Amino acid sequence: MQLEVRMISVSETIEIIKANIETLCVEKRPLIDALGHVLSADVLAKVNVPSFDNSAMDGYAICFENGNNEYQVAHQIQAGDTNSYYLKANEAARIYTGAPVPSNANAVIQQELVSTSESLISFDPEKITLGMNIRTTGSQCVQNQLIASKGVLINSAILGLLASAGVFEVEVFKKPVVSVIITGNELQKPNYELEFGQIYNSNEFALVGLLKSLGITQIKTYQVIDELTEVEKTIQTALGESDFLILTGGVSVGDYDFVKLALERNQVNTLLYKIKQKPGKPLLVGKKKDKWVFALPGNPAAVITCFNQYVKPCLLAISGYKKTFEPIAVLPLKNSFKKSAGLTFFVKGRFDYQGVEILQGQESFNLLSFNVANCIVKIDENTETLEIGSLVEVYPLD
Ligand code: AMP
Ligand code: MG
Repeated sequence: MQLEVRMISVSETIEIIKANIETLCVEKRPLIDALGHVLSADVLAKVNVPSFDNSAMDGYAICFENGNNEYQVAHQIQAGDTNSYYLKANEAARIYTGAPVPSNANAVIQQELVSTSESLISFDPEKITLGMNIRTTGSQCVQNQLIASKGVLINSAILGLLASAGVFEVEVFKKPVVSVIITGNELQKPNYELEFGQIYNSNEFALVGLLKSLGITQIKTYQVIDELTEVEKTIQTALGESDFLILTGGVSVGDYDFVKLALERNQVNTLLYKIKQKPGKPLLVGKKKDKWVFALPGNPAAVITCFNQYVKPCLLAISGYKKTFEPIAVLPLKNSFKKSAGLTFFVKGRFDYQGVEILQGQESFNLLSFNVANCIVKIDENTETLEIGSLVEVYPLD
């Protein structure tokens, strides 16, 4: 006789997952390959930025003296010029943005404010303020200054910041190696014709895409028939090759659903199984030592939703990201919604700055509304009716 498993709530599920999160090891990466990683150590500037006083404008560098508004252009200084210049009395240098200013220059006057006659320039001395248009050494940051702290997610702008300070390698949390096992006798590849009773294997495409969109590059995929020994063997192989295992299908209570038993036979410790939610009730989460296992149900919309709500936040958290389980916003509903109490609903939605619309076609096999969806909306377990304008939590899709 099979024991009835107590279903747990969505919030309990998240607490259990969070309580088991440990970040992966750290590694050094070349800056160019660090996008989407989280810093595991503070980063200090290698150099002063800028490393020399330079011009913020195309114009003329002068050593301004009160009363003197005429100067002789004695030098041309282009960006990248490696010489040092010094201005004698009444001398100016034609200078361009980013070029080093002469060592005794105290202003750069932009060319729009200057009248030129042959090599003589003149201007209204009222327009001069000392130091104008000179970007001084270290005005962004000085050598050894902290420029990005441990825990910061490296985005493109941070790549630029770090490169500007001469940083070419960073210490970051690793991203997991992920295996995906797709179960189901009925599955066919999309480049083959379907025989009667077959369906296309969409979960593999969705999952690999979802993983890649998180910057995960080491992904192995396996497909296996619904046979206990085959499922068991494939799990063993996949666990040996990865930090994180995702399965789809075969985790429900049908006679051909072998995933749970096969995981147990592989000494995977079940952290939770069966959640009071729709879609994705028969989700199983387990661990074998520090390796994670998420066994998702087969229904394709449930796969995407469970990935978004649980797998993605867990993958990001072990990669050093913070607050990964939080909604992106709490927004007013643009349409009303009804359900019975008892299960948390995760529904496909489309949000903008004004609010969020719950889309048509919420069945767990139905992927069609993902062509316009940009989020999952959470409707709480005990909620039955939501009127227009009710506030709901919104979780973005990639
Ligand atoms: P299961 O959880 O194995 O009982 O599968 C639930 C439903 O999802 C069934 O209708 C399956 O045919 C379908 N399904 C399972 N795996 C996939 C897959 N890889 N791609 C698309 N549909 C799937
Ligand atoms: Mg199946």
